[in-house]
Amino acid sequence: MMQISAHSQPVETCLSAFETTPEGLTQAEALRRIGRDGPNLLPEPPRRGALVRFLLQFHNVLIYVLLAAALVTGLLQHWVDTGVILAVVLANAVIGFIQEGRAEQAMEAIRDMLAPHSSVRRDGRRQTVEAADLVVGDIVILEAGDRVPADLRLISARGLKAEEAVLTGESVPVDKGTAPVAEDAALGDRHSMLFSGTLVAAGTAQGVVTATGAGTEIGRISGMLQEVEVLTTPLVHQMNVFSRWLTLFILILGASLLGYGYFVMHMDFGGLFMAVVGLSVAAIPEGLPAVLTITLAVGVRAMAGRNAIVRRLPAIETLGSVSVICSDKTGTLTRNEMMVASLAAADHVFSVGGNGYAPEGAVRWREADANPADHAVLMDFAAAAGLCNDAVLQQADQGWRVEGDPMEGALMALAGKITRDGADPFAAWARLDEIPFDAAHRYMAVLHQAPDGARALHVKGAPEAVLALCRDQLEPGDRRAPLNTSFWFRQVEELANEGQRVIAVAMAPAAAGEDMLDMANLKGRLTLIGLIGLIDPPREEAIAAVADCHAAGIGVKMITGDHAATARAIGERIGLKNCDRVLTGADIEAMDDSDLAAAASETDIFARTSPKHKLRLVAALQSRGLTVAMTGDGVNDAPALKRADAGIAMGQKGSAAAKEAAELVLADDNFASIAAAVREGRTVYDNIKKVISWTLPTNGGEAITIIVALFAGMPLPITAVQILWVNLITAITLGIALAFERSEEGTMRRPPRPRDEPLLTGNLVWTILLVSFLCLVAVFGVYSYAHDQGYSEALSRTMAMNMLVVQEIFYLFFIRNIYGTSLTWQAVKGTPMVWASVLTVTAAQFAVTYLPPLQRVFGTEAVPFRDGVLIVAIGVVFFALIEIEKQMRLAFRARNGSLRKG
Ligand code: ADP
Ligand code: MG
Repeated sequence: MMQISAHSQPVETCLSAFETTPEGLTQAEALRRIGRDGPNLLPEPPRRGALVRFLLQFHNVLIYVLLAAALVTGLLQHWVDTGVILAVVLANAVIGFIQEGRAEQAMEAIRDMLAPHSSVRRDGRRQTVEAADLVVGDIVILEAGDRVPADLRLISARGLKAEEAVLTGESVPVDKGTAPVAEDAALGDRHSMLFSGTLVAAGTAQGVVTATGAGTEIGRISGMLQEVEVLTTPLVHQMNVFSRWLTLFILILGASLLGYGYFVMHMDFGGLFMAVVGLSVAAIPEGLPAVLTITLAVGVRAMAGRNAIVRRLPAIETLGSVSVICSDKTGTLTRNEMMVASLAAADHVFSVGGNGYAPEGAVRWREADANPADHAVLMDFAAAAGLCNDAVLQQADQGWRVEGDPMEGALMALAGKITRDGADPFAAWARLDEIPFDAAHRYMAVLHQAPDGARALHVKGAPEAVLALCRDQLEPGDRRAPLNTSFWFRQVEELANEGQRVIAVAMAPAAAGEDMLDMANLKGRLTLIGLIGLIDPPREEAIAAVADCHAAGIGVKMITGDHAATARAIGERIGLKNCDRVLTGADIEAMDDSDLAAAASETDIFARTSPKHKLRLVAALQSRGLTVAMTGDGVNDAPALKRADAGIAMGQKGSAAAKEAAELVLADDNFASIAAAVREGRTVYDNIKKVISWTLPTNGGEAITIIVALFAGMPLPITAVQILWVNLITAITLGIALAFERSEEGTMRRPPRPRDEPLLTGNLVWTILLVSFLCLVAVFGVYSYAHDQGYSEALSRTMAMNMLVVQEIFYLFFIRNIYGTSLTWQAVKGTPMVWASVLTVTAAQFAVTYLPPLQRVFGTEAVPFRDGVLIVAIGVVFFALIEIEKQMRLAFRARNGSLRKG
């Protein structure tokens, strides 16, 4: 294979240079080439090695403090303390390292799910392969919205524009074509090429792959590699900032206490220093950022498990507060398994039978099979349906499948049914030119040369759009009659009222020399053949999901390019509200922004809209304070997806442009997955809140115990090393368990969280104070009780420490259900994570209390059975107190809520 500069050579030279043909390579040859050249992947950005990642765990203020403390205790020759502190430091780093690894894995799995695919011609037919499998010589088929998967020399192009900003910095799309350009043309001027990583902004194209992977122009620019995303959301970021300030606050507080204790109270420096170290470790929520990251990673994975792939992490949080979902109809609320049900010609309405996409089935007219020979018009229907079509029908094991647009697949099947001539009855016709379908003009036009040399053009599209181009209509006997527009619109209504998607087909002869199509010269030239009605049943899951959303206080709006009557019929079946009111694109255009804002919030069905209306709708709904999720698939949907609070792209039929603009990609294009994602979003937010709600008061309780003891000039009820121990053991068990909590029952039965709801709500602050206080009371209570019993200092402290841990466990069960009662069987059963962590902590506490070597290190003593029971009993009372307090608050809130409603 010779090396050529493809951009300056004619198409044929390029094809032969890459040893290929317009029909593509064979699968076997493609495999051979991939073995030779390697996969079409850009080199991975250099990743931080495991050692660097591990060392980075030590880069943290708290760790610095601890290392300093280890040094000081070493100088004071308190070797046990030094050892414990170093163990804590090490354990912290290991835990952080493992958790970070898990989070990265979750993100990587998602990247794999988003791996790009590409349409190619291989073995003479169109198929979809992973972009990574492309090889030099492959013939790639592209359309508007696609990301170019490799460097390509164009072999055909129609209305093609490419946006090459990633490569040239030029953000205005450039025109592309097949004509060779000068050998020395700069990258931006190589109009005969498409470059890997750029975006097809408009038109359609086929090109031969000239370079893959690192050999592409983008592959040569090494600095271009995508950045690694950090696992964070605004909330988690806010929390991290908060913990940094809290850390500073505590360090200053600790230093002041050190000064106060040493200079004012004249305490022994060694003991005082350790107490301050214990205080810092207790109060600084050092594990929090890592646990929040885990919580997010768990959420990302849970969403992926439900076919919702998070592209931008903040979306996890936004999804939880979504208050209105604007969804496409076709394929999202409906199954996008289309079938032609009826044909309306000037004289008859035919009904069409059959099964799926199989190109066989009867066309009926009044119960008798209609013979195409008696109805010439049927042949014209077939020609328009089969020619104005880019889909390919393939017979697979489970029946017939479509490669391409399902509606076109259904039309191809129709052509087969009428002609009784297989899956591609018009294969012998040569396409000369086309105007691709676009949601803005809503039709598609093609120009063909028939095998007998005659040329014809065919158009299919939305009835309004096609009728506007027609001069007359086809009558029986191949006669023409003036177009009876009102008759056709009545027919459209009739079919649409049954929920059928209606398109019109038209045709015109073309002159022998005509080989170009132009939107301007279609008008007034066409002859209408008739209407085609397609059925596309609603998805069962979508019906249930819409009901779920309504129960969760989330509005569902359907935005479709389809006809108003079709939209309404489907809307009713799906269970949307306000179905008697439909706004059309034309209505939207007639309104100013404030009218639209008012109308949009009261309307649930928007029909005959184009992508630019979506953008206005998002803005209108947002102006009403709503948090808007919006779905989209086409290249023109990108602005609306970007503008929406949660842009959601279709994974299957969505363009790369839409996916890249979106926060979330639906692997199965299914509305039910959006509802599932919202549920997960709410759960993640709850879990973040739970993690924080658990961490802050337990840290607070530990810290206050030390501060109070210091100020009161009392001996510490729990020693500093013991505090270090408790912190360590609970952080790796109880602290993480909440990240794995499942959705609370009723997650989808409460209204969406207001977008500006502060994290530290009054409730949470109150809980922090209450729990910290109860911890203080219980710990000091147990400690003084033990003293009164005449127990040794060591035993009293051991009991106080165990009291603290028992409270933290009970508090965990309390926090698991912030919206309901903790006393249901479901709540007590918990997740395996909860029980695993509780068992671990319990085992660890038994070990530190009863094993002699640990007793020596931590200064503990075996707790008598009776006192152990007492400690657990106090835990139960503690739990009862906070649970009852919560119930009182919930009851009060419910009453308030019902008063407001009533
Ligand atoms: P939806 O919101 O249902 O996806 P679209 O914007 O895709 O609607 O389509 C709007 C209208 O454009 C359809 O009702 C149909 O009349 C017409 N249409 C859709 N796809 C095509 C196509 N491939 N060729 C011609 N017309 C089409
Ligand atoms: Mg569509």
